[in-house]
Amino acid sequence: MTATVLDGRAMAADLRATLKEDVANLRAHGVTPALAVVVLGDDPAARSYVRGIERACAQTGVLCAVHRLGEEAAEAELTLLLDRLSADADVHGVIVQTPLPAGIDAARVGAHVAVAKDVDGLNPTSAGRLLVGLSSYAPATATAVLEILRQATVPLRGSRAVVVGRSVVVGKPVALLLLREDATVTVCHSRTVDLPVVARTADVLVVAIGRAKMVGADWVKPGATVIDVGINAIEGGGGIVGDVDYDAVAPVAGAITPVPGGVGPLTNVMLLRNTLDAARSHHQ
Ligand code: NDP
Repeated sequence: MTATVLDGRAMAADLRATLKEDVANLRAHGVTPALAVVVLGDDPAARSYVRGIERACAQTGVLCAVHRLGEEAAEAELTLLLDRLSADADVHGVIVQTPLPAGIDAARVGAHVAVAKDVDGLNPTSAGRLLVGLSSYAPATATAVLEILRQATVPLRGSRAVVVGRSVVVGKPVALLLLREDATVTVCHSRTVDLPVVARTADVLVVAIGRAKMVGADWVKPGATVIDVGINAIEGGGGIVGDVDYDAVAPVAGAITPVPGGVGPLTNVMLLRNTLDAARSHHQ
């Protein structure tokens, strides 16, 4: 038996079609949802991610403005821009492309994105609101993980979920969102002892490490749902692979996301959905 493939591209295409209708409805009421994307420097991975956002915006009718600052831009220049965008009534969502250059502190910068426009959950206040159960935007990647599980109707209540990775943008918010769905959540990281043994207890295994193909078949309980967030470039321009050894794990898992074509395509759709929500709330 081989796992059901959770096709993020197909899910993203369906969601974009719905979003396009919702955006058209809002535009008919005189409001055009607008996303501002702030980019520092010229990282190739970031460039391709931003192109993806621009394409998704064009497909759905969301306005997208990319603001580029040089890699050498001072933190003050960045925070000034974020203050201006946060105060601009025609802008509904503001994101800052990460990773930020060394020396620029993500939490300090994030505090300059107005919480109501913080569609990628960068502001520490958004993270705090998520923690205490108040409404907020969670980081788009974490939201994408939950969206895949929802669309695949994976039972979460009472399930055992293991999240490998504890970053602020992926691991921690995924853990909180799974907890909100009544899963029993274990968070693992580089100091976890016997990681494969812990991972093997999972009904739902979410992996966000950043190590190519690290998760093998012996990490996975037969029939488990495996969500691979990892994006690792193969040297020499050979494309990307996930953190999960897909070929080894697919025969064991019940369902699995491919890389590419799993979590990635849904991430920017979640940003657009959040931007639409922000535009609606702003004009209510
Ligand atoms: P970070 O580097 O910020 O965090 C990695 C986490 O993995 C850390 O918590 C780290 O532990 C843990 N880790 C590292 N090595 C090991 C190991 N050998 N064993 C166990 N745990 C380990 O990465 P991100 O969370 O930002 O990203 C994770 C992956 O997801 C990357 O491949 C990234 O490219 C991808 N990504 C994909 C996105 C998408 O849209 N699909 C968006 C964002 C990221 P510790 O805390 O102890 O150091």
